[in-house]
Amino acid sequence: MNIQQQFTLTGNEQGYWFVSKNGRLWLPGGQVPLGSASEFGFSNQLAQPIGEWNGQTAWLVCKEMNNAMSSIRPLLNGDDLSLFNMAGRAVQLAEFYRSHKYCGYCGHEMYISKTEWCCMCDNCNQRYYPQISPSIIVAVRHKNKILLAKHVRHNQDNLYTVLAGFTEIGETMEMAVEREVFEESKIKIKNIRYVASQPWPFPNSLMMAYLADYAGGDISVDKNELVEANWYHYTELPKIPVYGTIARRLIEDTIVLCREYDEYGDN
Ligand SMILES: [Zn+2]
Repeated sequence: MNIQQQFTLTGNEQGYWFVSKNGRLWLPGGQVPLGSASEFGFSNQLAQPIGEWNGQTAWLVCKEMNNAMSSIRPLLNGDDLSLFNMAGRAVQLAEFYRSHKYCGYCGHEMYISKTEWCCMCDNCNQRYYPQISPSIIVAVRHKNKILLAKHVRHNQDNLYTVLAGFTEIGETMEMAVEREVFEESKIKIKNIRYVASQPWPFPNSLMMAYLADYAGGDISVDKNELVEANWYHYTELPKIPVYGTIARRLIEDTIVLCREYDEYGDN
């Protein structure tokens, strides 16, 4: 996209206002506010257009409001993820600028590029780009059952989902898929197929989603990561992630394959 620089608002600018600090977004009434800069008191403040949403300019203002600062998770629902993705861009850019005020090589103060999303050091000419961490998420099927696990961090809400983890340095995505499944469950898999991706700004992942089939082994979970993991028949699923998440899409895709298995077997 055409990157536009940060500048001082006159007050007349119109659009959606993505106001972010500390990984949180200003969501008064649960909404991203629409209107002019002056009506929200942003005149004379720095802002940056970061794209378009719903036919309007999306503005990033890096600041903390004194109410309604929220996680962007409530924006993640249903089929249209464009608002969630724009909010993720805003939150991550705000954090990127906040954490890159000084050059990591020479300690000099940096400035924000006028031509790309990067911070630049005019002392040693180093450039820093926003960090995006690739990670994998994978649904594993065994005949007409799907492997679902309760993660330690989901123990309270009793949510079961597919396995996921970060890609390590020097690893392909496919290697990460195999390794994560084995580390977390001791299951061997085969037939790893790419499905889709989803930016996941908690704090800066890009999840690449895969389907895979069971190849061998008995479930034995890594208790640091998982409370439990089990094979679930597709008609008897526990509580699973909401629509809009890539985890839900993988589970839905696997349910289709489980049904086909019941009808036709594996061939
Ligand atoms: Zn430098």
